[in-house]
Amino acid sequence: MTIVWLGAGVEKTLLAEAVSKAPLETGGVLLGWITGADICITNVIGPGPDAVHDTQSFEPDSRWQQDSIALLYERSGRRLAYLGDWHTHPAGKPEPSDQDRRTLRTIAQSSTARSPNPVMLIIGQPDGTPWIASSHIYLSRHGSDRIVKVKTVIAPGIQGWDQ
Ligand SMILES: [Zn+2]
Repeated sequence: MTIVWLGAGVEKTLLAEAVSKAPLETGGVLLGWITGADICITNVIGPGPDAVHDTQSFEPDSRWQQDSIALLYERSGRRLAYLGDWHTHPAGKPEPSDQDRRTLRTIAQSSTARSPNPVMLIIGQPDGTPWIASSHIYLSRHGSDRIVKVKTVIAPGIQGWDQ
């Protein structure tokens, strides 16, 4: 059973970014490694300075993100891998929309992302409750695909690389 582990600082970084942009959406990129069935997120990258934020969507600053990924990749001794994306639902449940599901499929099928089983982490704040995180993973087997919800667990013992 796959578990998505959030390393030290990851939860804080996600929350700080979410709160700073709410009620607008924001998001970024998930980096880390895969151990067996488990996915360890050690670092997250934000939207970038030229991202465009809306209430129902956001457009990342892809160039800035690519540069940030490259920098962390080098600093980690090339151990970090791209694991997927994260974004916020500032006024909704952390469940993937139809558009989110299409996005996850596109990432899985993109050869440049090199991530056949990408994760989509969403943090949402339905009805003014505290922020809740959920993770979904794209799985493909024997020509059929599905998107399944997996457990998200905070693991302070997992250290990230300095950004
Ligand atoms: Zn969404």
